Amino acid sequence: MIGFGSIGRGTLPLIERHIGFDREAFTVIEPSSEFAHILRDHGIRHLPLALTPENYEATLRGLFPAGKGMVVNLSVDVDSILLMELCATLGVQYIDTVVEPWPGFYFGSTLPNAERTNYPLREKVRDLGRAHVGGPTAVSCCGANPGMVSWLLKEALLKLAEDTDVAAAPASREDWAQLAMTLGVKGVHVAERDTQVSAKAKPQGVFVNTWSVDGLLSEGYQPAELGWGTHEKKLPPHGHAFTHGAGYAIWIDRPGADTRVRSWCPGVGPQFGYVVTHNESLSIPDYYTVRDGERAIYRPTCHYAYHPCNDAVLSLHEINGAGQLPESKHILTADEIVSGGDDLGVFLYGHAKGAMWYGSRLTIDEARNLAPYQNATGMQVTSAVLAAMVWVAENPHAGWVEADEMDHERCLQVQRPYLGRIECHYTDWTPVQHRINSFAEDRDDEDPWQFTNFLAV
Ligand code: NAD
Repeated sequence: MIGFGSIGRGTLPLIERHIGFDREAFTVIEPSSEFAHILRDHGIRHLPLALTPENYEATLRGLFPAGKGMVVNLSVDVDSILLMELCATLGVQYIDTVVEPWPGFYFGSTLPNAERTNYPLREKVRDLGRAHVGGPTAVSCCGANPGMVSWLLKEALLKLAEDTDVAAAPASREDWAQLAMTLGVKGVHVAERDTQVSAKAKPQGVFVNTWSVDGLLSEGYQPAELGWGTHEKKLPPHGHAFTHGAGYAIWIDRPGADTRVRSWCPGVGPQFGYVVTHNESLSIPDYYTVRDGERAIYRPTCHYAYHPCNDAVLSLHEINGAGQLPESKHILTADEIVSGGDDLGVFLYGHAKGAMWYGSRLTIDEARNLAPYQNATGMQVTSAVLAAMVWVAENPHAGWVEADEMDHERCLQVQRPYLGRIECHYTDWTPVQHRINSFAEDRDDEDPWQFTNFLAV
């Protein structure tokens, strides 16, 4: 395991509970000693070292002399693509929750904004992956989102088909895309509401979140990015198409952590979410594209609509106002959180029943009772990592894949005990409803499901 942060710590007890492994051979590479006592208590070897471009190859070669095993990368600041290539060479399996580059990409980069998006990173993974068909399995981008939400989307599509009397037995990527088109799904939000709160008020100047602050800052200050549906009539302000690749996405020349959309989650109903860029905003539209020859005739719009915990919203407000990254960071632990939970699902809109939210609703109390060292947000991620590990062990020669290409039934079967309640909610809400007084806006009343209607400027 690389990285023993909030996700690494939460994943360890799930591995111990569900996976048979050789304790002598299990190594955690983690530069910080802050949580080394947990590794000592569990009898797991700690390699206190930061992977760098200079040492990563020798370090991993040293750990896998027999070319057998699995790398689970739960770090920040380590180049995922180089690790995937090395693991393929070593003959070991690999799992990651994001496509992460070495430091220097997210901040202080001289790259133009179009190149600081996830699109070129994903395109590179997909291109390189074509050379690894049938090779050691490497799962790219499999946590809760990206990851689990792709499995939930498949369940949601089957449920929508059942509820609208559409026959469905999809068996291939093409079948799934065809099903989404037949159902008339115009778009998918990965709609999340994190309601976890601490008893202690957030101190001014401290960035507080329920998972990696570094991770949120990195992706939050990349440009906003989204899968671009075939029903969309016009680009949003500062929106740009990509000039290379299959063109399933667009980017907006604004930070995702300062780009809000109207969205919907159970419990709260209509809410703002941030269009923080994520791999699922790219993999889902790509996976669900229906083509007639070269021409895309159907593709859903897809993006993250993230309402982080209240302390993180306030933290973003503070740093956006200051125009400076925070000096102090804090991840809320399960012990500090007094109430709330995480609702994370897919919000499918534009179909015969209007809109539907389908996802996991997990409270902090449930998370605390399920496994140690994690809050509700972490549990949705760590259990997805566990599901990916099981699937990889059962499918060791699947080459380079994303969550959309894995067996969603098997993965959710492993993960479901850790997800609280999986709920389905239909709503007649649309983004053109509800305004406090009326003001000038770019509004399309003919089609409420246009992205410009969701975008709050
Ligand atoms: P964290 O910030 O709590 O921990 C990251 C850990 O990586 C830290 O302990 C840090 O010391 C370690 N690290 C930093 N540089 C390293 C290096 N060079 N070599 C080895 N280790 C290094 O983050 P987290 O909340 O545990 O998240 C871990 C990763 O998972 C992040 O990349 C995050 O974006 C990702 N994540 C994905 C999802 C998802 O749903 N897909 C959800 C949450 C987090």
